[in-house]
Amino acid sequence: MNNKTYGKLQGYGILIIAVIFLSLVANLALANPKIHWGAELVPHWSYSGEENPHHWAALSPDFAICSKGQNQSPINFESGTREKSPNLVFNYQNTPLNIVNNGHTIQINYAKGSRVIIGDKDYELMQFHFHTPSEHTINKKVAKMELHLVHKNEEGEIAVIGILIQQGQEHPLIKKIWQYISPEQGEKNFANVIINAKDFIPVDQSYYNYIGSLTTPPCTEGVNWFVFKTPLKVSPQQIQQFTQIYQLNARPVQPLNQREIVIREY
Ligand SMILES: [Zn+2]
Repeated sequence: MNNKTYGKLQGYGILIIAVIFLSLVANLALANPKIHWGAELVPHWSYSGEENPHHWAALSPDFAICSKGQNQSPINFESGTREKSPNLVFNYQNTPLNIVNNGHTIQINYAKGSRVIIGDKDYELMQFHFHTPSEHTINKKVAKMELHLVHKNEEGEIAVIGILIQQGQEHPLIKKIWQYISPEQGEKNFANVIINAKDFIPVDQSYYNYIGSLTTPPCTEGVNWFVFKTPLKVSPQQIQQFTQIYQLNARPVQPLNQREIVIREY
């Protein structure tokens, strides 16, 4: 084989490899929008465009309650009944960092064994995730972001603790987590990075409590919401790091209807 033939063959080889590689990439790109990481296959929904929150109910019969429901979340807090309702007793443990970018938010999944006790109910912390701007509002004021700590008890009842996030000093736990977040969808495990969500819990645990729903499809009702009055402070850079990945992932406030808001103050 002379040099010319060899060069030609090498050229074909590179071409074939390039074609295989490109078709693999194209396949992945086509398959990707249909993948919902860490969840069962659900109809696609979004915060803007055709699939925005006003259209969620139309996207699937499973989402009907998003528009028909009378007990939807988030809501605006203004007045409420001041009551000596239960304390939140936190028993959050350390967990290895597991991050999912699910195409709607950045979610951190929690290992088993972390609990919050509310009255006579004992809930397990499943995951926490973030919205921007905030979903709940206080006196119609929107905060920069909102953190949701999602809990479930043995009966399958859901309690979510919401913490509004405002601009201030850098937050050490956010700093730790943000090092590992990325725009790329999927799940990542960092077994050597240990975090504890108790670092998000304010000293003053005064809260607003009401019965609402999930703020994302399927908008399931019966969720026991506790939104702290005290916001979490993070730096402007930390807000920016999140908004570089998600510019807007907040559902607009929903009508309160006949519901009662309970205010617990310490
Ligand atoms: Zn949420």
